[in-house]
Amino acid sequence: MELSGSVWMRRVGMLSARRSLLHLAATQFHSSSTNFLASPPLSFPFLTKFLGPSSRCISFSTHSSAAPLPSTLHQDDLFTSPVGDDEKKAESPKKGSKVILKGLTYPEVEKWVQSHGYRPGQALMLWKRLYGNNVWASCYEELEGLNKDFKKMLGEHADFKALSLKDIHTASDGTRKILFTLEDGLIIETVVIPCERGRTTVCVSSQVGCAMNCQFCYTGRMGLQRNLSTAEIVEQAVLARRLLSSEVGSITNVVFMGMGEPLHNFENVLKASEIMVDEQGLHFSPRKVTVSTSGLVPQLKRFLRESNCALAVSLNATTDEVRNWIMPINRKYKLGLLLETLREELCARQNYKVLFEYVMLAGVNDSTEDAKRLIDLVQGIPCKINLISFNPHCGSRFKPTKEDKMIQFRNVLAEAGCIVFLRWSRGDDQMAACGQLGKPGEIHAPLLRVPAQFQAALGASI
Ligand code: SAH
Ligand code: SF4
Repeated sequence: MELSGSVWMRRVGMLSARRSLLHLAATQFHSSSTNFLASPPLSFPFLTKFLGPSSRCISFSTHSSAAPLPSTLHQDDLFTSPVGDDEKKAESPKKGSKVILKGLTYPEVEKWVQSHGYRPGQALMLWKRLYGNNVWASCYEELEGLNKDFKKMLGEHADFKALSLKDIHTASDGTRKILFTLEDGLIIETVVIPCERGRTTVCVSSQVGCAMNCQFCYTGRMGLQRNLSTAEIVEQAVLARRLLSSEVGSITNVVFMGMGEPLHNFENVLKASEIMVDEQGLHFSPRKVTVSTSGLVPQLKRFLRESNCALAVSLNATTDEVRNWIMPINRKYKLGLLLETLREELCARQNYKVLFEYVMLAGVNDSTEDAKRLIDLVQGIPCKINLISFNPHCGSRFKPTKEDKMIQFRNVLAEAGCIVFLRWSRGDDQMAACGQLGKPGEIHAPLLRVPAQFQAALGASI
């Protein structure tokens, strides 16, 4: 169904009122670029009534809630809204009077433990029980070997749990989709992808839904409901290990390729990745923690400067015309700017390659001309390219490029010296593959107008 931009914004505005109203409160209408933001100011009592009691559940979200988050990005909203420009520092995560342990980095845990009169050595023992030694403690009763008083204090003042397991679906290729319920009842999905070469990857979500409205992505159909807190992100990796290590072997890689745009939730994602690579804890190698972005340029720049984890960029098109349509974020950050930023930021870095993801859409971005343009676009950028087969989902207007055409496309790139891989779908019979996560409600983000020259290519797939 195609909705006009204004109708969509009104309807999504009601559905995701919790986030959007906090956004309004925080930004004081400093952007009037969307119809929703252009409505008259709302009084605080109205906000309180709308937010309801669960708004205090995760007080960490004072940081993330205040971040300016439009419900979705769409045709009429030409990205004058401040997408993810949240420069605030993360606050100490709390639930009621309890501190949420998995939202803290090790130095923060140490400080907090000391503030309760215990030694740093005890903080380390706690940290190891949360994240190391195959314990993955999810309540204070599981903290074997800790001093009794310390355990009692933790029982009184610390919260161990950010997620509840709802379900696990296993696809025919062994991929697992784990569904978690959040404190406020929302549901997120985490995917565990075993691989024959002994490398098992957990694909974590960073938001409930996504504001970016990429036209080929199922998660994008949901719009954005809210950011995940640091603890909610970290715990996906912890619980994936706890629940599935015995079945799938050790989980060695993390990709932020689940629900959401990670750099739209910058602070919480950065902090979560810091916790994941801590050598005394989960100890993922920074090279094996990959944050994937649709191309939020300022945040991408910050990420490259502040994190030692890996970066993936979803390119998916070789012209602004196509990218403006299939990835509306391109209207704010054009291909040229995105690639020039990567060129500048990476030229001085040793042994670092950005990963470009390129989802192949039949008749849209898979011609030989596209392959040639792609070679030119990535010139001078140390990179690898993954060509990803499109995973269909209900309501999608695209169809996947045929296998032989993907191979041909790959060959053109390889002959020009690019490092390029083909990535076939994993877990798609359980809707666990890239771009298939989430559950759009009855209201979907708007489908954008198809440029005239692609109508035939899509027509056949409707
Ligand atoms: N928001 C981030 C990360 C989550 S999406 C991003 O866009 O990079 C992870 C990857 O899935 C992206 O490369 C995206 O282009 C790809 N993707 C989205 N929908 C897809 C689909 N239906 N089939 C295949 N890949 C898809
Ligand atoms: Fe969001 Fe990534 Fe999906 Fe685009 S592809 S809608 S950025 S999750």
